[in-house]
Amino acid sequence: MSNIKSSNLGYPRIGEHREWKRALEGFWNGEITQSELIEKTDAIRLNNLKKQQEQGIDLIPVGDFSLYDHVLDTSATFGVVPDRYDYNGGKVDVNTYFSIARGLDEAIASEMTKWFNTNYHYIVPELNDASPKLVDNRALTYYKEAKETLGIDGKPVILGPITYLQLSKGYEASEFAGLVDTFLPLYVQILQELQEAGATWVQIDEPIFSTNVGEEVIAAAEKVYRTFAEEVPGIQIIFQTYFEKVFHYERITQLPVKAIGLDFVHGDSLALLNTYGFPKDKVLAAGIVDGRNVWRANIDEKLTTLETIKQFVSEDQLIVQPSSSLLHVPVTKTLEQKIDPVILGGLSFADEKLTEIVTLTKGLQTGRKAIEAEIDEVNEALSQLQATYRSNDDVRTAVSELTEADAKRGAPFAERIALQDERLNLPLLPTTTIGSLPQTPEVRGTRTKWRKGEITDAKYEQFVKDNISRWIEIQEELDIDVLVHGEFERNDMVEYFGEKFNGFSVTEYGWVQSYGSRCVKPPLIFGDVSWDQPITVKESVYAQSLTDRFVKGMLTGPVTILNWSFVHDTTPRYDIMKQIGLALQKEINALEENDIKIIQVDEPALREGLPLDQAKWDAYLEAAAYAFRLATATAANDTQIHTHMCYSNFEDIFDCIDALDADVISIETSRSHGELVSTFEDNTYTKEIGLGVYDIHSPRIPSVDELKQNIQRALQSIPSKQFWVNPDCGLKTRKEKETVNALQVMVEAAKEIREELLVKKSN
Ligand code: GLN
Ligand code: ZN
Repeated sequence: MSNIKSSNLGYPRIGEHREWKRALEGFWNGEITQSELIEKTDAIRLNNLKKQQEQGIDLIPVGDFSLYDHVLDTSATFGVVPDRYDYNGGKVDVNTYFSIARGLDEAIASEMTKWFNTNYHYIVPELNDASPKLVDNRALTYYKEAKETLGIDGKPVILGPITYLQLSKGYEASEFAGLVDTFLPLYVQILQELQEAGATWVQIDEPIFSTNVGEEVIAAAEKVYRTFAEEVPGIQIIFQTYFEKVFHYERITQLPVKAIGLDFVHGDSLALLNTYGFPKDKVLAAGIVDGRNVWRANIDEKLTTLETIKQFVSEDQLIVQPSSSLLHVPVTKTLEQKIDPVILGGLSFADEKLTEIVTLTKGLQTGRKAIEAEIDEVNEALSQLQATYRSNDDVRTAVSELTEADAKRGAPFAERIALQDERLNLPLLPTTTIGSLPQTPEVRGTRTKWRKGEITDAKYEQFVKDNISRWIEIQEELDIDVLVHGEFERNDMVEYFGEKFNGFSVTEYGWVQSYGSRCVKPPLIFGDVSWDQPITVKESVYAQSLTDRFVKGMLTGPVTILNWSFVHDTTPRYDIMKQIGLALQKEINALEENDIKIIQVDEPALREGLPLDQAKWDAYLEAAAYAFRLATATAANDTQIHTHMCYSNFEDIFDCIDALDADVISIETSRSHGELVSTFEDNTYTKEIGLGVYDIHSPRIPSVDELKQNIQRALQSIPSKQFWVNPDCGLKTRKEKETVNALQVMVEAAKEIREELLVKKSN
C-alpha cells in the first residue's frame, strides 16, 4: 500500500448558491435568529465536509470554515478582542465576533486588509493590550464534529503563530519575540487537546514564509516548532506555505515537523528542490493543482511534475494537494448553464479540483495507466478549447510586433498639457469626481429585472439615460468642472468589459469570497483578448450631448482587468495584459472619434498586483506601466488622459505611477492624507494630480474648513497649477443625498481656495 495521500487545504465557505452569505446577512438584518444562523451554517459546513469525503480525499481540512474570516477566528480563539467592544473574557459570542468585523455603534470595525496577494480580506488583529488566553479551541470542536457526525478523521487547520503575529498590529517590532513566547503555550495547548482527542495530522498555515521575512521571524519559527515537537510529539504537523516559493528554504525544511507544504504552481519550488534537495525524514505536501485559478489542470503535465517531485522524497513520502486553500475559487462548475460548453469543458472549480487531486494521487500511486481515461478526457477538452477559442493569430502577431514606441504618446507631457489647457480651459484647482454615482436600490433593481428579461432593452436603456441626464443636471448645478456620466449601466467595473471583449466570458455562479459576506464574480479570460465594437461610447456621447462642460470617458485599465479576472494559464500573463491594452486603445480611439476629450482609465488594482516576491516587482511594474501606456498611446496630444488608483500607500510604486505618463491621476488618500502628501515632499511629481479630499467610505458629510485644510496641506508640496479637487473614490456605494451634500462642500472649498490663491497672486 502506497503512502501517497491526497489532501485539501481548505474549502470555500460560501455554499453553492451563496447560502452562507444569505444566512449571515439575514442574521445581521434581524431576519433570522442566532440559532437559525448556527443551524444554517452548520449544515453548510457539514455538507462541505461530506463532499470532500465522497470525493475520497484522504486528509480533509476541518476548522477552515468560518462565520466571517479565519484570521478573526484565530483572534477569537485567543480572546483577542479590542477594548472598544464589550468583552469580559471567555468564549467570544457571535455578536461580539461580528462587531469586531463590522463595527458597532461608536466602536469602529477593525481594519480589514488583503490576505497576501489575493482579493480575500482578513480582519487585522489588534494586540495592543490584549491578554491572550485559549478561550475557544475551535480546531478541537470541529475535529470532534467531523469525527462524530461523519466519521471523518479530519486534519485541523490552524493559522500558525508566526503568521498570525506578523499580520497583527498594535505592537512594536521589538515586542515580537515576547509575543511569540506569550502565544506559544496557547498553541501547545491547542495541539495537546487535539492529540488527546485522537487527531494525527494538523495543518499549520505559515504563509508569511512565502514573503521575504527577516532573521528574527525565521528564528522564532525555529523556536516555536521545536517546542511543538517536544511538547506534542504525537501530532504530525504539516508546516504549510502557499502563494509563492518559500523563503529560508533550507531552514524551513529542517524544522522538526512531519511535513512541509510547498506551492508548486506559483513559485519555483522545483528549483529549490533541485538546488537544496529535500530531507529524507519528511513528507512533502506538494501543492500541484492551482488553488487560485479556475482552469482545468493538465493532468498529464501535472503527473509528470509529481513524478519529478517524487524523486526527491524517500519512499512515497508525498501528499498531493492544491496549491492553496480552495477558498479562492468558486464551488462547482456544474451549475453553469449558460456558458459555452467548450469553455465549460476547460473549467475546474473547487469540487472539480478535488477530483483532479484524487486522480493525480491515483496516477502517482498506481501508475499513469490507471488514469489513462482521465488524461485523454482532459487532453481532449483542453485541445478543443485551444483550437476553438484560445488562439487569435491577429492579436498574437500584433503583440509580438510591439515596440517601446508603440506605448508612447505623440508628445511629452509638457507639450500635451499646454495643448490640453488651451482646449479645455479649466479653472485653477478643477473639481471632478471619480466616475460612479450612487447605485441606488432602484438602479440595481432595474438592472436585475433587465437581466432576467423582465424589462425590455429599450426600457432599460431609457432608464440609464434618465439617470445620466438627471445627474448631468445635478453636477452642473453643483458647478463641478469636469463631469461624469455616472456608470449607471455597469454592474462591476471589470465584468462590464469582460462581457464585451472577445476572449472573455462570465459565469453565473462563479462567486468567491472577498471580505465577510461580500463575494465577487471575476470574469474569465479564456483566450486572446480583442475589441470588436464600442463598449462605452453610447453612454459617454449621450452624457456629453447634454452639457457644455466636459464629460470624462470612463474605462477600466489593463492591469486592473487582468488582476481581477481568472486568466487562463497557457499564455504569459503579461502578454495578455498587452492584449487588453491594445483592445482598450481601440476603445479610446472610438471615444475620441466621438469627441470625448477627457478619458479616464482606472487602475485601482495596480498596487495590489505586486508579486509577493520582491525580486519580481520590477518586471511586474514595467509590464503594468507598458500596458497602460499602450492603451493610451494613440490618444491625441490634446486629449487628456486621467487615471485613478484606490489606495494611499503608494511609495512602493511611485516610479511606476510616473511611468504611466497619465496627464492627471487621482488617488485615494483621505484616511491618511498627511502620509501621502509627505510622499510628494520627497519625490517630485510633475504631472497633474488629485489627492482625494474626502473619504467616500463614510456617510459623514465633511465641513468646508476640513476640506480646505486638506487641500492647503497638499498645496504645500504640490503646485496649485497641478492640483485637482475630487473625492477619493467612486461614489456608487453612497446615498444620493449624502453625495450631493458632500460634493457641495467640496466645490465650495475649492472655490474659496481658488479665490484666496488669485488674491495672493494679484497682490
Ligand atoms: N471609476 C470607478 C468608480 O468611480 C473607479 C472605482 C475604483 O476606484 N475602484 O467607481
Ligand atoms: Zn478608487
